[in-house]
Amino acid sequence: MRKVYLDYSATTPVDERVFEKMRPYFTEVFGNANSLHGFGREGAKAVDSARRKIAELLKVKPTEIYFTSGGTEGDNWALKGTASAYSHKGKHIIVSAIEHAAIIHSARQLEKNGFRVTYLAPNDKGIINPETLENAITDDTSIVSVMTANNEIGTVQPIKELCEIAHKHGSLFHTDAVQAVGSIPVDISGWNVDLLTFSAHKFYGPKGIGVLYIKSGVKPDKIVTGGHQERSMRGGTTNVPEVVGLATALEIALSEMSENSVKIRKLRDRFVESIESKIPYVVYNGDRKRRLPQNANFAFEFIEGESLLLRLDMAGIACSSGSACSSGSLDPSHVLLATGLPIEKAHGSIRFSFGKYTTDEDVDYTIESVVKAVNDLRALSPLFSEFKGDKKYV
Ligand code: PLP
Repeated sequence: MRKVYLDYSATTPVDERVFEKMRPYFTEVFGNANSLHGFGREGAKAVDSARRKIAELLKVKPTEIYFTSGGTEGDNWALKGTASAYSHKGKHIIVSAIEHAAIIHSARQLEKNGFRVTYLAPNDKGIINPETLENAITDDTSIVSVMTANNEIGTVQPIKELCEIAHKHGSLFHTDAVQAVGSIPVDISGWNVDLLTFSAHKFYGPKGIGVLYIKSGVKPDKIVTGGHQERSMRGGTTNVPEVVGLATALEIALSEMSENSVKIRKLRDRFVESIESKIPYVVYNGDRKRRLPQNANFAFEFIEGESLLLRLDMAGIACSSGSACSSGSLDPSHVLLATGLPIEKAHGSIRFSFGKYTTDEDVDYTIESVVKAVNDLRALSPLFSEFKGDKKYV
C-alpha cells in the first residue's frame, strides 16, 4: 500500500545531512559540555559554534540564544518566567485565544496563581487584529504573547504591529514561532520581539531540542532550575548532539526555504483547488493569503473528522484532526471554535500539512482517497441523508 505523510506540522523526519552531523556527538564526542577535561571541552566547542551559527542565521547575539527541550518548554518559560519576573509591572497578561496548548495551559496556570489573563479573539479567518490588542492592553499588562503562525489553520499574524502596540504600553512581547521558523521569513530584530520560541523537529531537525530567544536586557525568571548551564538560566546537561542537529537543520532550512516554499505552496494550492472543486459542502478554514505554505485545513460537513482520519489512515495517508498535541481528546479544536466555526463543522475538520518530501503523486493519491472517503462517509451519515439539497444545516 502507498504511504503518504501529510502531517509535517506535527513533526518532520530528520534530514539525513542533519543526522550525519549529529552522529559523532553520540558515540565519539560524548563528553559533558560542562566538564573541564578535553572530552568536555570538545562538546562545549560544538555547542559554542552551534550557538554562534544560530545567532548569525537569525541576526541576533549568541548570548540571546537559550537551548531548551523544545517548543513547549520555550513557551512555558517565556510566559511564566516573564509573568513572574515582571509582576511588579502588573498581574495582567494577554495571549491570543488560538495559541498552542503550551501557551494556553501556561496562561491558565497563571490565572490559578492570581494573574488576570485576556484571551484575544481572532477574526473569522484566524487573524488577530492589532486593534483588538490595543483595546485589551492596560497599564498593568506585563507580557503579550501571540504566535507567529498557527499550527492548525496556518494563519500568519501581524507580529511587528502587535509588538509595537505592546511596547507602546511598556509590555514585553513574546511570539511562538514554532510553525514559522524554516517555513516563512522570521525577522526577530525587525519585528523587535523580546522573546521568541522555536523547535528543531518542525524543520527536519531532531525532536526534544529548541531555542528560546531572549533579547538582551530581558530577564525572565528561571523555570528549569539546576546546574549552571545556559549561563545559569536553564539547568540540565547540555544535549550536544541535538544542539548540533538544531543548528545544522536551521542552516539547511533557511538556505532552502524559498525553493521549498514555492514547491510546497504549489502542491498545497493544487490540493486545495481539487478538494474544493470535487467535494461539495467543504469549508476551507483559515485565511487564503496570510497563511503558511504547508497548511491546508478543511471542514467536511456532515462527517466526523476522526472517521475521515481513520479512513485515510487505512489508505496509508497520515494527516491530523486538530493539532497532534490535542489528539487523544475528542474536544473540538479551540482554534476553529475561536474563529466562529460551529461545533459540528469544527468536529469535521482535518489538517493536511505538506513538506519538502511531498510529491505530486502523493497529492494525486490523497485527492482521490479524500474524495472517496468523504463520499463513503456521507453515504453512511444520517445528517447528510436528512439534508435535502439546500443548505439548511449549519
Ligand atoms: N507551539 C506550536 C505552535 C506548535 O505547533 C508546537 C508543536 O506542535 C509546539 C509549540 C510545541 O513544540 P514541541 O513539540 O517542540 O514541544
